Amino acid sequence: MAAPYAKVEQLGPGIARVLAHNPSAFTYYGTQTYLLGKGTVAVVDPGPDLPEHVDALLRAIAGRDVLAILCTHTHRDHSPASRPLAARTGAPIVGCAPLALETVGPRSDASFDGDYRPDRVLEDAESIIVDGKPVTAVGTPGHTSNHLCFAYQGSLLTGDHVMGWSTTVVVPPDGDMAAYMRSLDKLRQRDDYVYYPAHGPAVTNPKQYVRHLLGHRMQREKQILRLVVETARPIPDIVASAYPGLDPRLVPAAGGSVLAHLLDLERRGLVEQQEDRWIAT
Ligand SMILES: [Zn+2]
Repeated sequence: MAAPYAKVEQLGPGIARVLAHNPSAFTYYGTQTYLLGKGTVAVVDPGPDLPEHVDALLRAIAGRDVLAILCTHTHRDHSPASRPLAARTGAPIVGCAPLALETVGPRSDASFDGDYRPDRVLEDAESIIVDGKPVTAVGTPGHTSNHLCFAYQGSLLTGDHVMGWSTTVVVPPDGDMAAYMRSLDKLRQRDDYVYYPAHGPAVTNPKQYVRHLLGHRMQREKQILRLVVETARPIPDIVASAYPGLDPRLVPAAGGSVLAHLLDLERRGLVEQQEDRWIAT
């Protein structure tokens, strides 16, 4: 089956999806942009700044008023198309905060869209009205410090917080494992009936899926703790033991996730770093 690049997929009343052509080891087939509303629309996660994707979005919008361009977070596969789309529709860019680089040190890396400039930042639980219906921000830091999900008509657009094809990458210093776990727990307490992630298929059993993700992270944490209790180890050694047979392209991201777990364990007084090795306290 060919991936439906540039096609409009109608998922339900007032919700449609357009896939951008940016497949990779991190994005699956690419970034999925969502259109909410019928008479007027909001665009969620406009995606990478690829002219053919922006053109496909304009065809999907089909001349309707765009009330907002919403971004879940500012990774380069999510927010850069907000600017050409804003220029061509006149719509405001709304949603997550820009990354607070100056207040918290060098949190950014090449995966961040440093040019993101929202017209309005939504805080947790704040809504905008699209076509008579609320779209509500759900603050979900962890994958990035500025990540938001968006609730709409019983569904939740989960960005990269929960994905339909892979576990989420949590890389320090901006990614934070304790925050990520709290944000998963926040979703567990909601009653959304379906998740629409930015990458991968829809999740139709949200509660069960989130429980599975929480369990998976707790297992990973236990495994990492067991490895450093055995002996002091550097991160590459932990990655090799904890992720056997991992796609080499994903090794740096796995190293980031291991570091995120270790920093969380360190905060809780269970491990400490000695030069390049980590050891149980
Ligand atoms: Zn991301």
